[in-house]
Amino acid sequence: MRVKKGSLFVLSAPSGAGKTTLCQRLCATLHGIHHSVSYTTRQPRPGEINDVHYSFVDRDTFMAMIAEDMFVEWAEVHGNYYGTSRKRIEELTGEGIDVILDIDVQGALQIKEKLSSVPGGCVFVFVLPPSMDVLRKRLRERMSDTDEVIRIRLRNAVQEIREYKSYDYVIINDIIDDALQELLSIVLADRIRQGRIDHEWVYKNFLEEAV
Ligand code: 5GP
Repeated sequence: MRVKKGSLFVLSAPSGAGKTTLCQRLCATLHGIHHSVSYTTRQPRPGEINDVHYSFVDRDTFMAMIAEDMFVEWAEVHGNYYGTSRKRIEELTGEGIDVILDIDVQGALQIKEKLSSVPGGCVFVFVLPPSMDVLRKRLRERMSDTDEVIRIRLRNAVQEIREYKSYDYVIINDIIDDALQELLSIVLADRIRQGRIDHEWVYKNFLEEAV
């Protein structure tokens, strides 16, 4: 194994920027990267499968998990709780598998603060829509929500976009295939970082024989 530990890719974006689609396309295109299934207290939407899209738990269970420090980060988003399981990401990255987290800005900032406790590397990617008008249009088309709910989502979007400078990369999702190529480039470039190579592998294969 040339790479010892998987990296963590943290993907955030305002609602409607297309990060969930990007995340799914990335995992379907590239080997060795998994989406981390979050825990949430929100109700499943039609078609969502427990432990595939989310692990759906009730509020008491979620609170007990916080108390037991089972989350590497957690946040309240649009009135529901969401959290990333420490165990799940440690198991995957420990096996050399990259993990992508589709989480909100509050969660991403928590991970940034705890960087040293995350095995391997951690790369922060922010996804922007091409414009505010496009975001408004996508939210209107996608949601059966009232104008008021859409207004709240847009206000939240501005708050989230304010944090883009905390991220390493910014992808503008105008044409999804182009955005996917950019995300692939980020992951592939990270995989060949010198810091990720398994030094034992280099020694065994190239250096031991030379001495
Ligand atoms: P949705 O309920 O529409 O799937 O997600 C709502 C928001 O919660 C999205 O911005 C999504 O990225 C975020 N989210 C999903 N899982 C997590 C998580 O584990 N932690 C945090 N902080 N946010 C999450």
